[in-house]
Amino acid sequence: MMGNASGSTSFVNAKFAEIDKLAHEVQARLWHRYKKLNGGSRPDDATVVLEPGVALAERGYRIQSVSSLGEMYVNGVKREVAGCINPQSRIVSISQLFEPPLQRFTLAHELGHEICHPGVIELHRDVPLEKAGQSRGWKEIEADRFASSFLMPERLVRRQFSECFRVEFIELSEEMAYALCGVGADLVRERYKSIRAIAMLVAATGQFNGRFFAPLNSQFRVSRTAMAIRLEDLGLIRY
Ligand SMILES: [Zn+2]
Repeated sequence: MMGNASGSTSFVNAKFAEIDKLAHEVQARLWHRYKKLNGGSRPDDATVVLEPGVALAERGYRIQSVSSLGEMYVNGVKREVAGCINPQSRIVSISQLFEPPLQRFTLAHELGHEICHPGVIELHRDVPLEKAGQSRGWKEIEADRFASSFLMPERLVRRQFSECFRVEFIELSEEMAYALCGVGADLVRERYKSIRAIAMLVAATGQFNGRFFAPLNSQFRVSRTAMAIRLEDLGLIRY
């Protein structure tokens, strides 16, 4: 039977797997390029290599940082435009009105359109992930998935996550609640009422069980929301 819930879930998963593969191919090219330019050495910080702007430049794009890109309506609400891609003139414009992590995600989102929708997208404008709301078109969801997968590679996220939290995933037990917030699970559930709320906490926390570290969102140079969504998608947070 077509159109049932599990059927559409597996369709989405297959589509996401395809997009992850495309993102991985771009990453592999950037790693290759970096090693060639740096005598075969690997950087301590992988985000130095995973630059969406470099991948766009390789495809003949010029990246423009501009003070504003005007506004557009999204689901009936006026929003500041964060980025714009023009495949004909090979220009990507990024608005300086947003914080650097949001600019970086928008750049990766535009790279996603270039890789996933070649020849389909004409002049195209975007608002940030945080302001887009629930009902995004399929192309937007695909470009977001590309950006997420490109900026936060699964293996690297799992590695950094287990380095910070010393567990495979975070599930809200009594012990976990104390390690994370210093209070019991009931109180944590009262404060953080959804899986997204817990994911947002984990994405930006700099301490766990009395140990201190750089928060995951700053390690990956993305916004708290982008990091939280990635942690959820990878099953690293369970509520
Ligand atoms: Zn878009």
